[in-house]
Amino acid sequence: MNRIDGHTQLLGLLGWPVEHSLSPAMHNAALAALGLNWRYVPLPVLPDRLEAAVRGLAALGFRGANVTVPHKQAVLPLLDSVAPNVRALGAANTLVIKQSEEGSASIHGANTDDQGFLAALRAGGFTPGATTHAVVLGAGGAARAVVYGLLQAGCRDIVVLNRTAAHAQALVADLRAAAGPAARLQARPLSAAALVEAARAADLLVQATTTGMRAGNDSLWPEGEPMPANLAVFDLVYTPVRTRLLQQARQSGALAIDGLWMLVQQGILALELWIGARLQREELSQLMHAACQQAREE
Ligand code: NAP
Repeated sequence: MNRIDGHTQLLGLLGWPVEHSLSPAMHNAALAALGLNWRYVPLPVLPDRLEAAVRGLAALGFRGANVTVPHKQAVLPLLDSVAPNVRALGAANTLVIKQSEEGSASIHGANTDDQGFLAALRAGGFTPGATTHAVVLGAGGAARAVVYGLLQAGCRDIVVLNRTAAHAQALVADLRAAAGPAARLQARPLSAAALVEAARAADLLVQATTTGMRAGNDSLWPEGEPMPANLAVFDLVYTPVRTRLLQQARQSGALAIDGLWMLVQQGILALELWIGARLQREELSQLMHAACQQAREE
């Protein structure tokens, strides 16, 4: 399905910058495999042009878009409706645009990060539930989606460690309502000692800070300190895919899950929203993961 013609349907990625994003390669591979005459294009949009860009998508007949840094929060006032988790998370990563026959359009905001994280965690071999003791590193948008997802999966014991303690406290305060009275949701300042102590009492460690990204490939886990072998370690960072933290996890015999799987799973959930049908997730996830790896090597 190489031809672009009058029937081609469009999807895009609103962000700044977007030129290094893996999403176009990943989504176009999936759309081609599904035999759909749809295309997914990167759309670099400066913050002060966001409103014009979103209105433009609707006017141009786009079926939907992903939204990434720095627009995930700023896009909310521009939407006609939002999913319940968008309200709880304060951010949308997916727009679904419905065109009416009269020529108007409505834009719905969704967030597939929380369910994408959960799907990747389960596919990676860890099923979260009421007996899970989780430690989450970070208190930004990604950590919020992780904590919300874990609460939705029934987790009742989550410790959030963050460099800026006030940000962890704000996350906990904001998600307290979603946690319910039975849950123990705690915020603590991040230090190597606090991390090791919390991890010893946990069975799941989720790394949702920017630590370990391309430049330094450093780790918040202290070098030379073995990790508990019963731990599942999920690092949301996917540049590089094999972060230092995941290497440390593997060396200690712990389960290691990389962030590319979350990118893929949140992408499949977005595709399902745009297409309006449930897809063969297992098959697609392998194909989309391979497309990401290939795009990275090119
Ligand atoms: P964000 O909102 O900017 O939050 C950044 C977080 O990292 C904050 O908690 C910040 O702590 C912490 N941090 C930054 N530098 C640090 C350092 N030197 N030491 C310790 N903590 C540090 O970013 P985000 O959107 O949440 O994204 C976080 C990471 O998740 C990024 O690497 C992103 O690529 C990844 N991500 C992956 C997926 C996926 O699909 N795999 C999806 C979303 C995000 P302070 O509060 O102290 O500033």
